[in-house]
Amino acid sequence: MGITGASPLRLDILSWQPNRRPDCPDHVDGHRALQVRFPVLQVELEQEIPVRTALVSDIHGNLEALNVVLDDIDRRTVDRIISLGDILGYGPDPVACVDLVAERCDWSLMGNHDYGALYEPTNFNAAAEQAAYWTRAQLELEEDETAAAQRWEILGRLRVRTSFNDFLCVHGSPRRPINEYIFPEDAINSPVKMKQLFEHVPQYCLVGHTHVPGVFTDEPDFYGPEDMDDRTWKFTGEGKCIVNPGSVGQPRDLDPRSSYAILDEDAKTVEFFRLEYDIDAVVKKIYAIPELTNWLGDRLIEGR
Ligand code: ZN
Repeated sequence: MGITGASPLRLDILSWQPNRRPDCPDHVDGHRALQVRFPVLQVELEQEIPVRTALVSDIHGNLEALNVVLDDIDRRTVDRIISLGDILGYGPDPVACVDLVAERCDWSLMGNHDYGALYEPTNFNAAAEQAAYWTRAQLELEEDETAAAQRWEILGRLRVRTSFNDFLCVHGSPRRPINEYIFPEDAINSPVKMKQLFEHVPQYCLVGHTHVPGVFTDEPDFYGPEDMDDRTWKFTGEGKCIVNPGSVGQPRDLDPRSSYAILDEDAKTVEFFRLEYDIDAVVKKIYAIPELTNWLGDRLIEGR
């Protein structure tokens, strides 16, 4: 794979690229990729031709929301879709969401709920932990051995952190990729934390995890999409930024509509989108599953 010092096993775990031709490691989805060594963790740093990339995150087993977002992406000019983690957890359709992400996204990061369902729930409240065990049980219910094996393979290859061009990608934070939150209020209340986080950001960083869309600057400051002209952030090239596209399947900024974003590396912009979806259908499914507490449905209605 051309990354000095990285063991094949480690690369295997960190590099889920279903569309990559195995005989041609520098060819990724039609874009030439130059693999270089990343100094801290042995991850792939790919120099790719700038493209328009749809950013989806925190799908959380919400198939109705994911379908609406994918339909909207299909109506726009987008070269690829990437997932910033938490495909699983909370929602009633984890298996269908894994299959759809595998089919539609170039790759996905490992979120704390993916980790929780696959390995062990870490720092989860009782409801989230119960949802994680229920989610794992849904994956284990698969009777088709080939389908089950493929799904575990895909989940086993979720990336903890990865990069392309100027963008580091992690689910949580650049220093604790799976579990650390970067809240909008941290920009005001925790300047030391923000300074430490930005020390881990080469130029730009893409995150999920809080389910709140917006952009952090290293001033530090936070800008929600409503603070931006046309809900579009422009990278000026000055200073560093951390971008969160918000959550597809469980928004928490008191706006229950599904959230995603499109990164345009040519225009140097990120545009934020909100979409209505059939929340009631998802709530009904959650209410009907005893292991998923009703609050997981109620919070979708409230957007928190
Ligand atoms: Zn999440």
